[in-house]
Amino acid sequence: MHECCTVPVENIMENKHKPDGVCCLISEVTEAPPRADCPESGTISRKIQHRTIEHMVKPDLLDKILASQYYYCAASDCPIVYFSQDGTSKFTTEDLQVAVFAKDTGKDVYVCYCYDWTRSRLENEIRETGESTASKEVAEKVRASLCECDIKNPKGTCCLGDINAYVREAEDNLKAEK
Ligand SMILES: [Zn+2]
Repeated sequence: MHECCTVPVENIMENKHKPDGVCCLISEVTEAPPRADCPESGTISRKIQHRTIEHMVKPDLLDKILASQYYYCAASDCPIVYFSQDGTSKFTTEDLQVAVFAKDTGKDVYVCYCYDWTRSRLENEIRETGESTASKEVAEKVRASLCECDIKNPKGTCCLGDINAYVREAEDNLKAEK
């Protein structure tokens, strides 16, 4: 069993299930530096696994993926999603099969790619019930080893930090409306 799946659901809900900040779904080990600067925006970016890129890019781009280490640029205003260590190979938001939460503010963009929580679904639930069940649902799936963030989420890791941040934002917005 993964180490992160043995902690209580409440801790997972708070995104505190990753020992040393590392998700157990990250198993690709390389010698490449842990961080690199995005060639477009200069954003300090962390390593991304090949299997994430392979599941994310449009099928006709699969043969463009190099054997090199890739990095994930999380900057909201930068079109580059993945870039290779030497900067020669890049995949932009246009090259992916899904919209990237960090780079696309659309309401229909997924926050949780494994269990279909979009911004609008989170907002609607909070509007209708006063709270969100998303982080609890996702935490229970994490605990049952049923998440596939490494191949479904463009950032390649757990969405719980994004869910919690967006739920807080949505709650504040709804309070401001009233
Ligand atoms: Zn960038």
